[in-house]
Amino acid sequence: MTQLYKCIECNKYTLDEKQCPACGGEVRNPNPPKYSPEDKYGKYRRDAKRKAKATKNN
Ligand SMILES: [Zn+2]
Repeated sequence: MTQLYKCIECNKYTLDEKQCPACGGEVRNPNPPKYSPEDKYGKYRRDAKRKAKATKNN
């Protein structure tokens, strides 16, 4: 899959990962690494686990 970058100056998409060929502006990956939604639930999971453990130890 081809990685597209997006210029933060003119908002054009480019294949250039270093700078925008149109304006020389900085480019960034418009699809940043996934925020893992699992992490959010992982917190609850760990929390629940901790509570369960605490209950067990009581
Ligand atoms: Zn640009």
